[in-house]
Amino acid sequence: MQCPHCKEEVLDGAVKCKHCGSNIAPQGGQIASGQEILRFDAQDVEKNKVLAIIGYIFPILFFIPLVTDAKNSIYAKFHANQQLILLIFGFGGAVCMVFISIILAFVPVMGPMMGKLLRPAFSLACLALAIIGAMGANEGTPKKLPVIGNLTTLIK
Ligand SMILES: [Zn+2]
Repeated sequence: MQCPHCKEEVLDGAVKCKHCGSNIAPQGGQIASGQEILRFDAQDVEKNKVLAIIGYIFPILFFIPLVTDAKNSIYAKFHANQQLILLIFGFGGAVCMVFISIILAFVPVMGPMMGKLLRPAFSLACLALAIIGAMGANEGTPKKLPVIGNLTTLIK
């Protein structure tokens, strides 16, 4: 294989380039997702990193990679998909929380208090997922979000 930085030939699976000394492995993480092997190219990650991280801060912007040059990026699409899942989970969950807290309001004593705690607790969970996602985007490894990350692949 070729070093992504200096284009010199290096051993397959090398962690460090012997020509320019740059790290090769950490950005090209590999996992098996279903049957396909997902692999991010270091240059791809470098180019689309900011966009991928912003997408976790504002998940509503998940579609941006799909309408720009980044649509050819495996890395950008991976994160756009995770952000879309987070967005659907967040909205869907928020609506559920409203209904649950309405029902809880009829439960004597503890009900109304639990109803009040539910929404902030859910918001915190979403925030935690977004932070984990943004950290994964920053690392450049194909790590899916906990719990919800494996739900579906909406963007091919
Ligand atoms: Zn090199």
